[in-house]
Amino acid sequence: MNHQPTPQTGKEKNPNLKKISGIKMESIGVLMTCPMHKYLEQQLETHFNLFKLWHCNSSITEFLKTHQGNTIRAVVGDTNIGADAELIASFPNLEIVASYSVGLDKIDLRKCEEKGIRVANTPDVLTDDVADLAIGLILGVLRRICASDEYVRIGKWKDADFGLATKFSGKSVGIVGLGRIGTAIAKRAEAFGCSISYFSRSQKPFANYKFYSNIIDLATSCQILIVACALTEETRHIINREVIDALGPKGILINIGRGAHVDETELVSALLEGRLGGAGLDVYENEPEVPEELLGLGNVVLQPHVGSDTVETSDAMADLVISNLKAHFSNKPLLTPVI
Ligand code: NAP
Repeated sequence: MNHQPTPQTGKEKNPNLKKISGIKMESIGVLMTCPMHKYLEQQLETHFNLFKLWHCNSSITEFLKTHQGNTIRAVVGDTNIGADAELIASFPNLEIVASYSVGLDKIDLRKCEEKGIRVANTPDVLTDDVADLAIGLILGVLRRICASDEYVRIGKWKDADFGLATKFSGKSVGIVGLGRIGTAIAKRAEAFGCSISYFSRSQKPFANYKFYSNIIDLATSCQILIVACALTEETRHIINREVIDALGPKGILINIGRGAHVDETELVSALLEGRLGGAGLDVYENEPEVPEELLGLGNVVLQPHVGSDTVETSDAMADLVISNLKAHFSNKPLLTPVI
């Protein structure tokens, strides 16, 4: 079931928020769930009383053997470990989850809402990078950039020309989820002379692209299908056998959303059986595990979930996490509130 958090106007006050007059931010307990950007860790260490879950084998039970659960007032999670029901229940004084990600699929939003815990994420600052990578993956697959790079490196060019690739400019591109990242991908693909169509829960009045209310129709009509929607119970395995078959043996699937958007078993068999033309993947169902079968396929380009991983964007995301925490503990509106 898709969970829609209540939009925050900035006027509401979290009932859990304690008065901070006289309390230094440096004494506020913040738990980082796993290693993230080093700069974020340094900033958290500078401004707060930072605890690192991975120093306790990433186990909350271990953590609670040596620390008081009520010390933790904020959690900083990411796409690996967010804030699930167990974590939320373990820290009775938790007031805010500030995610070092835009995706919210690793946060139990319902529990947070129930307990009046605020949630913030890092939208917008990463949009360009993820959209850039989506275009990079398309070019990588169609122009066979990784394979031709290897061809030069291992000296094969001296024996024979590389062979032909496939043109990107002018292809029809279908986007699943015309949000911030989906729209940024559409703009980039337009510059390549591509026709754009999309599938979302609702038609976007701002977009002059063809809207499909049915993902099968979108997949049937386009040559490149790009997944850019949020991961919810509704969109889990939204790319299933039927969608893959609608895209067809010349179709290309690009996934920069989340691994669980795609039924990976179906994707692998479609690629092995030639029912799908190729794939560019940044995300996988069981990261960092990648299906063995994909490693040997020349029509697949694989990335290790690095959509937003540039120095510039990672710094900006870290600054946003810190600003949200500071705003919260100063009793000011969050910069990028989810709840
Ligand atoms: P966004 O602006 O909130 O866009 C999310 C889109 O998902 C919206 O257009 C929404 O469209 C669509 N959507 C939600 N439920 C849907 C459903 N049931 N069916 C179809 N579409 C649905 O978020 P964003 O900033 O563009 O980020 C999108 C996603 O990209 C994130 O959630 C994250 O998982 C992923 N991401 C990946 C990386 C990476 O490193 N690879 C980095 C950043 C983000 P409607 O409202 O019209 O349904």
